[in-house]
Amino acid sequence: MICPICKTDVDMLKFTTQGTMCRDCHAKVSMVAAAPHPPGELIPQFYGTPMQTPLYWRDEITGELPAAIIHYFDFCQGHCPDETAEDLGIKPLSQRELDLICSYARHFINAPCWENNLVLSELKELRERAKTLASVESIRRWNEECMDLGWDPF
Ligand SMILES: [Zn+2]
Repeated sequence: MICPICKTDVDMLKFTTQGTMCRDCHAKVSMVAAAPHPPGELIPQFYGTPMQTPLYWRDEITGELPAAIIHYFDFCQGHCPDETAEDLGIKPLSQRELDLICSYARHFINAPCWENNLVLSELKELRERAKTLASVESIRRWNEECMDLGWDPF
């Protein structure tokens, strides 16, 4: 049987309150679900062992975060200055989608695993800036700076 979360072929799938999945995925999903949320944030304070890596947005179990980020990609893609997302028939992001993406951006950049990185002052700067993210444009600029320094949040 193929686990719908990790796509691994397993002997048995579990039926859980969080959906059908393999035992390993259920252990992980339960730990994430039980983790506290930092004040005002939508993404739980949970980092993967052993490196304390951020959760991957595509793995979010309800599908709400992956859908929001894919909408963000569509919205940002291929815009020349005189062409808007509206021209392409792509709806603007909802407040809820923006909140989820900004919260995930902070979850990502606050991961302890980055702290042995050589660009610590840049990391601090990106963490500070992540607190102020609110619009597509601000997410986009912040994401570009992350990419320039070798981080790929999305
Ligand atoms: Zn699985």
